[in-house]
Amino acid sequence: MAKEVLYSSTRGALGQIKASEAILRGLAPDGGLYVPDHIPHLEKELREIAQLDYKETAYEVMKLLLTDYTEEELRYCITNAYDSKFDTEEIAPISEADGAFYLELYHGATIAFKDMALSILPYLMTTAAKKNNVKNEIVILTATSGDTGKAALAGFADVPGTRIIVFYPKHGVSPIQEQQMVTQKGDNTCVIGIEGNFDDAQTGVKKIFTDKELAAELDAKGFQFSSANSINIGRLVPQIVYYVYSYAKLLKEGRIADGDAINVVVPTGNFGNILAAYYAKNMGVPIAKLICASNSNKVLFDFFKTGEYDRNREFVLTASPSMDILISSNLERLIYHIAGDNAQKDAEFMAQLASNGKYEITDDMREKLTDFYGGFATEEETFNTIRNVFDKTGYLMDTHTAVASSVYSKYVAETGDKTVSVIASTASPFKFTRSVMTALGKADDSKDDFALADELSRVSGVEIPDAVTSIRTAEIRHKTVVDKDKMQSAVLDFLSK
Ligand SMILES: *Cc1c(COP(=O)(O)O)cnc(C)c1O
Repeated sequence: MAKEVLYSSTRGALGQIKASEAILRGLAPDGGLYVPDHIPHLEKELREIAQLDYKETAYEVMKLLLTDYTEEELRYCITNAYDSKFDTEEIAPISEADGAFYLELYHGATIAFKDMALSILPYLMTTAAKKNNVKNEIVILTATSGDTGKAALAGFADVPGTRIIVFYPKHGVSPIQEQQMVTQKGDNTCVIGIEGNFDDAQTGVKKIFTDKELAAELDAKGFQFSSANSINIGRLVPQIVYYVYSYAKLLKEGRIADGDAINVVVPTGNFGNILAAYYAKNMGVPIAKLICASNSNKVLFDFFKTGEYDRNREFVLTASPSMDILISSNLERLIYHIAGDNAQKDAEFMAQLASNGKYEITDDMREKLTDFYGGFATEEETFNTIRNVFDKTGYLMDTHTAVASSVYSKYVAETGDKTVSVIASTASPFKFTRSVMTALGKADDSKDDFALADELSRVSGVEIPDAVTSIRTAEIRHKTVVDKDKMQSAVLDFLSK
């Protein structure tokens, strides 16, 4: 038996807890994020994993990190998550285009990569509640830049013993993203627009989470909070799976030889997806470079270049809204690890971030970042990439994936590194139809996004996903919009219903 993995907060010595408890809590009481006390190595060889399907690969990876779940519990969660909600049995297929491998993570119910983890999180969470004899109703509190919200709503809708509240920036998501959320069914769901940006939503949610008086008040009423954001370790662990899977798949198809290193390129916002790749590397997947791609909100690019994280800058609304983030929550986990799993140091940096909006890591810490390469793409570069790759190969990608693709091209031009590379393809082009059509030079202001989706389907020969068709005429069920400092009362309102 492998050694049990225990979890503790990035910010303090509050003791260690089991995986299922960390998933239930979401965020640590001191505002830190739960991190594993060690990162276990894969038990099977990658060439053995190459013979497994997605679900079996998921089990091989997740059992190593979620050690207090029984085999039966984990297999139950995996089987129910990765089923016909996905439009392909492969779950995460790989397409080759223009010299790179696109790992398509958008074949789930809400056509963005968040489905990869949020299809399984409700099962992990309700199983954890049972294991830990939780009697309270679990209230999932989520801030979204557009995609997490819908994927979490879809996952938790009508799940007994849970309620879900989603906050999104009213003016910061695409029309299709908004329509997806406000039409969400399920008596236990609540969607609220806020007058503010994603960082405001995320900060507000974290504040509600760490309010001890509120927690006590709600506990008395039979509620407790948890999170579906990537601060929850239950989001991160399922995301490691597809990096293992993609390496194994390339191996199986003879695209690489056993032991060959690959690069991965990840369009990044909250740093969850690329952190999962970092964990995969530490579990034994031969990954050379972790290429972190930002849009014009390039706070991470600057961080990798200078060692200073500085959020004091203008927040830019881009065509890749799910990456419009200046406070990348999950970077805190990396900071903790490169500080030598040092919670005290991490807490100091985070206190500086909270008070001055910036912090600078030490030279020792910077030395541990040599596997990372930061890049960014302007709006123009992003749009050109969509068009150029489509014209050259017929492969269509969304704006977020295009940020990664553009950064990858610049990386190759700069370094000459021809290592086989996997680009995380994070959303269907139909989720950001207007931007994709603009890139192709075919946008039409007189048409709504659904009419443009029809047009995009004609132009590209790609069928419109069900996720878009099904919301076209659906009833709008959620209309509340509140100011960013009224989030807590909105939560109490919903819970008193
Ligand atoms: C959430 C999201 C991202 C950013 O992922 P992080 O884990 O927050 O870095 C990129 N692309 C899409 C489409 C997303 O939904």
